[in-house]
Amino acid sequence: MTAFTTNQLEEALTSKLMVNFGKTAEEASDAEMLRACALVLRDAMALRGVETRKETKRGEKRMVHYLSLEFLMGRSLQKNAYNLGILPQLKEALGHLGFQAGDLFELEPDAGLGNGGLGRLAACYLDSMSTLEIPAAGYSICYDLGIFKQKIVEGQQVELPDNWKGIGSAWLLPKPEEAQQVHFGGTLREFWDNGHLHIVQEGATTVLAVPCDMEIAGYDTRHTNVLRLWDAKSLKPVDMSLYSKGEYFKATEDEAMAEVIAKVLYPDDNHVEGKSLRLKQQYFFVSATIQSIAEKHLAAYGTLTNFHEKNVIQINDTHPALVIPELMRILIDDAGMSWDQAWDITTHSVAYTNHTVLAEALEKWPQDLFQRILPRIWQITAEIARRWQEKCENFFHDPEKVRDTAVVWDGVVRMANLCIAGGMSVNGVSALHSRILKTDVFKNASEMEPEKFTNVTNGIDHRRWLAEINPRLDGLICDLTGGAYLMQPQALRKLDAFAGDRDVLLRLARIKQENKKDFAAYVKKQQGAVLDPESIFDVQVKRLHEYKRQLLNVLHIIALYQRLQDDPNAIVRPHTFLFGAKAAPGYAVAKRIIHLINSLADQIDHDPVCKGKLKVVFLENYRVSLAEHLMPASEVSQQISTAGKEASGTGNMKFMMNGALTVGTLDGANVEMHDVLGDENMFLFGLHTDEVAALRREGYVPQRLYNRDPVIHRVLDALKTGFRDGVSYDDLYGRLLFGDRCPADEYLLLADFAAYCDAEKRMAAAYEDPVKWNEMSLHNIARSGVFAADRAVAEYAERIWHVPYRRS
Ligand SMILES: *Cc1c(COP(=O)(O)O)cnc(C)c1O
Repeated sequence: MTAFTTNQLEEALTSKLMVNFGKTAEEASDAEMLRACALVLRDAMALRGVETRKETKRGEKRMVHYLSLEFLMGRSLQKNAYNLGILPQLKEALGHLGFQAGDLFELEPDAGLGNGGLGRLAACYLDSMSTLEIPAAGYSICYDLGIFKQKIVEGQQVELPDNWKGIGSAWLLPKPEEAQQVHFGGTLREFWDNGHLHIVQEGATTVLAVPCDMEIAGYDTRHTNVLRLWDAKSLKPVDMSLYSKGEYFKATEDEAMAEVIAKVLYPDDNHVEGKSLRLKQQYFFVSATIQSIAEKHLAAYGTLTNFHEKNVIQINDTHPALVIPELMRILIDDAGMSWDQAWDITTHSVAYTNHTVLAEALEKWPQDLFQRILPRIWQITAEIARRWQEKCENFFHDPEKVRDTAVVWDGVVRMANLCIAGGMSVNGVSALHSRILKTDVFKNASEMEPEKFTNVTNGIDHRRWLAEINPRLDGLICDLTGGAYLMQPQALRKLDAFAGDRDVLLRLARIKQENKKDFAAYVKKQQGAVLDPESIFDVQVKRLHEYKRQLLNVLHIIALYQRLQDDPNAIVRPHTFLFGAKAAPGYAVAKRIIHLINSLADQIDHDPVCKGKLKVVFLENYRVSLAEHLMPASEVSQQISTAGKEASGTGNMKFMMNGALTVGTLDGANVEMHDVLGDENMFLFGLHTDEVAALRREGYVPQRLYNRDPVIHRVLDALKTGFRDGVSYDDLYGRLLFGDRCPADEYLLLADFAAYCDAEKRMAAAYEDPVKWNEMSLHNIARSGVFAADRAVAEYAERIWHVPYRRS
């Protein structure tokens, strides 16, 4: 079953170095050896990929196509070696050749082709689809620049370009012979021929989409799927001979478009920019993908009439929503089908996952922009909208509901409604979120087509997020329950039986302690900060967004700090608050909050009263590989979003699986964590979704809390005054008390403040009873199996995709 023995690996690496760099192992640099490792593993996986695709074709199996504008893959070398079952052999072979495996792994750049949770989810699902032996492919853009690198300079975020492809491209296999052409703009010419209306796009700008494939090996299987990343190239080099034909400028337009389209990932999480380049990116990747799927389907079956029987297209949020009109275009214009037949196929092929209820994240495109860039896709979308609206009118007989469910309204194309109209399934990503979709965000549409709406709670790749990154904990689990959990995450439940075993709890405590020391050493090396491994590691890492309420965490730390000023003995246990978060470059408030965290950290660092008691560290450049170092060392997981706003969260699951205890609101998947853990194994606080709604209805006045509660008063005043660096945060103060082109304290920080302080107090008290704490920690690990991506992907396979999968 193993792909390589240690000896075979040594030989393969040696010859790769020779062929690629003309060097022996002694002469090769770490970077060259890293590349050699990637190429050797890529070869092995490519072979398995060919076998897998042959088998899919031979068996005429239904295939899943997972479309996402983001795949936050992180590093691949250790992961691929792990899945291929050759991690020990690789480490040994590298040792023999004079290299430190750990150093090499650390040298690999993250493939950061995503912003946060949504992109990481897609990456975790790729792993599970391969492991569960589902014939599948992922599709996205091969961005030159992934999510920016964050540096903190004088307390503030600075963005640097993320040039990941230098070493990262070793995993990619370009397939120029499978390139597709994508057309933008131009004008439509219609003509009749042979009784058919033909529509051709003339004078369009054309970009060549070239696939770069990344193989995705499954765990404990030879099944290997592919992540297809589309690179943009110009069709041909600009040819001066075109000049005389007047085609020179069109050729340079093609080239300019090819230059920019795959250049950079939009760095916005839960927020849309509405820029034309973004729409072009979306169509570029969707059109290339659908053409490629249709081409392969035609080659295999000779017709597209059974397309929906052999293909299912899952779209990760509305970003790939143009698959709906694009598939219609191919079926009608290229395959010559009638509208009704094409619509039947499309609406039995596409399934949509919603990821957010935030209004600023729901995609809407101005009709004129849409029409100018995508003239034929506009025609088709307009016809979809017209027919859908007719259906809604006949169902509702209510103009208000017709307006709400419309695909095109008031010169705006609404992508979520397009997905509901053209999709066979609409799912939210946690039980609470899916309920909110049905009762609030998409209430009317779900009344009309209730059978379309469902829930699939998110999950994470537990092999990566537990076994691979936390080998000590994996060792304990295997000692106690065997390795079955790797394929059957629910087997983690067996750990519950050891809750009364002092010996086991002590081992668990030691593992956390060792992991904390490792992480402290890592942080020291990376950014020079000194962490005390004897202190509580209390962590909030996720994208910076007001709804995630990092500011609430900060307000509580300021309150603690002020208590310490009054009474230097107020804190017995040293407490380290760790933050990690990127702010979208255009999100000024988020950047101010990062600055505030660093100002506060600096103040505390320079106050002798805080020494050995209180510490705040902002972890620079939060990304997958940093999360992998951090999760095993974390003790407290901060999941404190305003109830109703976080669709699911997946960071919460990574913490839980590594034994951290959650301080959180009843939001997203925290609700389901609470279902399996009970009040006794987490620290819940704050308003519930319905109470949030009620408070808003009554009219929420945060100033009353400021006037009534002396702790809040003093904390907010400190924002205005600022700290020793002399920076005032009166803008944040004003935002909480008065608003600023938004309601005062929009995310109800002050309403939840007292309850949050109390939850932190309960948490700190629980920490003082190590037996109790470790018992809770063990229960968290034991009950985290339900949050494995394998469970989530199995649900998609069974209820939405209708494809078989490996059961174990
Ligand atoms: C898991 C993960 C996220 C998602 O975190 P949430 O707390 O669910 O928002 C974001 N970024 C990275 C790098 C992650 O690994």
